[in-house]
Amino acid sequence: MRRLNKTNLKRTNIMVSYKELGLVNTRDMFAKAIKGGYAIPAFNFNNMEQLQAIIKAAAETKSPVILQVSKGARNYANPTLLRYMAQGAVEYAKELGWEKPQIVLHLDHGDSFELCKDCVDLGFSSVMIDGSALPYEENIALSKKVADYAHQYDVTVEAELGVLAGVEDEVQAEESHYTRPEEVIDFSKRTGCDSLAISIGTSHGAYKFKPEQCTRDPKTGRLVPPPLAFDVLDAIMEQLPGFPIVLHGSSSVPQEYVDMINQYGGKLPDAVGIPEEQLRKASKSAVCKINIDSDSRLAFTAAVRKVFAEKPGEFDPRKYCGPARDLMTELYKHKIINVLGSDGKA
Ligand SMILES: [Zn+2]
Repeated sequence: MRRLNKTNLKRTNIMVSYKELGLVNTRDMFAKAIKGGYAIPAFNFNNMEQLQAIIKAAAETKSPVILQVSKGARNYANPTLLRYMAQGAVEYAKELGWEKPQIVLHLDHGDSFELCKDCVDLGFSSVMIDGSALPYEENIALSKKVADYAHQYDVTVEAELGVLAGVEDEVQAEESHYTRPEEVIDFSKRTGCDSLAISIGTSHGAYKFKPEQCTRDPKTGRLVPPPLAFDVLDAIMEQLPGFPIVLHGSSSVPQEYVDMINQYGGKLPDAVGIPEEQLRKASKSAVCKINIDSDSRLAFTAAVRKVFAEKPGEFDPRKYCGPARDLMTELYKHKIINVLGSDGKA
């Protein structure tokens, strides 16, 4: 609350509709994705290089894209600046030859009504209210309050049922539990949410699984994570046919980036993520938004470490942020084309 008041103090641009910024909400995007058997990438951004890489990858592959901003990103980059960056992203996409960019500006893990309202008022086209750590009835009440407010401005709302393990900015949970399929009809009806984030074994961060949850590949010595609970996903889809489902914590933790980081002085032992084949499989179902954050952090760090190790005299940030941007662009394009299947859909 204290922070919100502070950021509100000198804001001159209170209340702007995302439509004026050239952004879109998720409604049509998700409906098409479910029908077409693909998923929309939701990539987090905190800085200019990440944003450039996301937009370049989306424009070059003609993929709809969700730009995600977490509470941590708002604190890091400044909420007002982020909104102008998103507006700039739309214009940049057009400059790259993408005539009608399909770009969503989404709040990731909103934890209060006030934060969600602030984002709606600032030009976000979609918000997540994460009441998953609350008791069921409180989660419903909070999610409904956000949906009622956001829908007045045609902003779409993602809510969450079930608890993911792992760490993501301020969000962390020691214990996870799967979404209970028997609750999803009641929850989606009573909240009025437009999409539902579920827990079926994905997890936040670059250490998604403890070694004791995994087996180890005898040839490579790498951890092999437990499979996602597709039976739970199937049961949820049976309850809510055609309802947009969201997967959080869906980085794959590419081992080539982990190796690069470790080779150039980093230390990421046993970092492991969700295998891409499983995300490909999920994309073909009612899962229509897949959140990927850690993979881009890994690509960024790997590229920067390589430059620092190979050229210790380098001190121009463009000379190490540039290669990081290139590697992230490559990563985003790979995800769009080979994992989510959203290329050519915008
Ligand atoms: Zn998340």
